[in-house]
Amino acid sequence: MSTESRPQIDPKVLHKLFCAASTYRDRAYAPYSHFNDSNMSSVGAALLTTTGEIIGGCNIENAAYSPGICAERTAIAKAVSEGIKTFTAVAVTSSIPSPSTTPCGVCRQVLREFLPPHIPIYMLSSTYPSSSEMPPDWLVRQDWKSEEATKVVDVESMESLLPKAFGPSHLDLPRDP
Ligand SMILES: [Zn+2]
Repeated sequence: MSTESRPQIDPKVLHKLFCAASTYRDRAYAPYSHFNDSNMSSVGAALLTTTGEIIGGCNIENAAYSPGICAERTAIAKAVSEGIKTFTAVAVTSSIPSPSTTPCGVCRQVLREFLPPHIPIYMLSSTYPSSSEMPPDWLVRQDWKSEEATKVVDVESMESLLPKAFGPSHLDLPRDP
């Protein structure tokens, strides 16, 4: 995602969002997948709403496997069921110490229902300094290309993660008579 089109969000707000994703990750119920080998497959997601609220979710696995739900969809379900449907950013993190946990295909489609194409989606490593009260220096400087930043965060947009997405507007397209 190009930095030019990225909306400016206060670094302190972003730090809060990133820390929330970590907090929700630590609440994950993930005894079955072990996708990180050394740890459980814990994932946390946090949504920043247009009114500045943060709503998070974790993955919730199930002994029957398919009823499990990802962190991103847990967060969306929580927000929408509270009447909140407009967001300005999303953060996702997991137990993996690199910024490589991207939303799965199902979650991308669910996020697409509510997120405009330019909305940033931040993928954080487990090593993001979420115990710190203050945002890291690179975040204060918004220096996303710095070495410190690229170790702990990758940024995409809704559009880059799900190009040519099927969305609500497709239902309004004219049909054959
Ligand atoms: Zn998912």
